[in-house]
Amino acid sequence: MKHNWKMGFVAGIMLLLPLVLATTTLTTANAANKTTTSKTAKKAKAKAKPKAKKHYLIVMGHGAGDPGARGNGTTEATFLRKHMLPQLRKYAKKVKGSTITFYNPKKNLVSDTLYHHKGSYKLNKKTTVIMFHLDAPAGHGGHVIIHKKHPTKRDRRLAKVIKKYVGLNRAYNGFSYRTNLRNCNVLRHRGIDYSLVESGFITNKNDVKHLKKHMAKIAKADIEAITNEKIK
Ligand SMILES: [Zn+2]
Repeated sequence: MKHNWKMGFVAGIMLLLPLVLATTTLTTANAANKTTTSKTAKKAKAKAKPKAKKHYLIVMGHGAGDPGARGNGTTEATFLRKHMLPQLRKYAKKVKGSTITFYNPKKNLVSDTLYHHKGSYKLNKKTTVIMFHLDAPAGHGGHVIIHKKHPTKRDRRLAKVIKKYVGLNRAYNGFSYRTNLRNCNVLRHRGIDYSLVESGFITNKNDVKHLKKHMAKIAKADIEAITNEKIK
């Protein structure tokens, strides 16, 4: 059989052409892809660099028409806002490794949560909530209300502060694991980490005396205990 060499060659080239073109396109696409990937990786790296600081929300108990416990001529809401809040704010500003904000002291986290379905329902799940309260009706010393059976390291540090300046409530020896506090249960069910600090009894003359006398030191130590950062 006679073979037409020229026709075969041309046909061959024509058959190969799409393949060659396709390969070129693929290579270009690959190169483009690689560039995009490395750009994305660089972007992600740049974004991840300033690591998000841990956020703590400090809540002074009661307020907004709820005085809380009464004793020694004052109320829980007033004492916490008048004596403790300014000192906590002062030391919160000195912290570098974490961000500390305060729940609007004109508001009441418990009623915001339970009656208005806001408060604890609206908090970011990564936030850690530290609530300050004073105890009543009768007794001496403070304790930390915790949300797991065993206290965290932060809970232990907070209890140490109470022990040092006011003394611990002998009934709890530092910690009380409670599951019957409705606002706290909202936090618990949402997986939000928290500690509730009962700094002492508002009804106990000595507790209030010690709280007033050492308030600056207590506030500084509390901020250090919360953030695990030494303040100069
Ligand atoms: Zn209270």
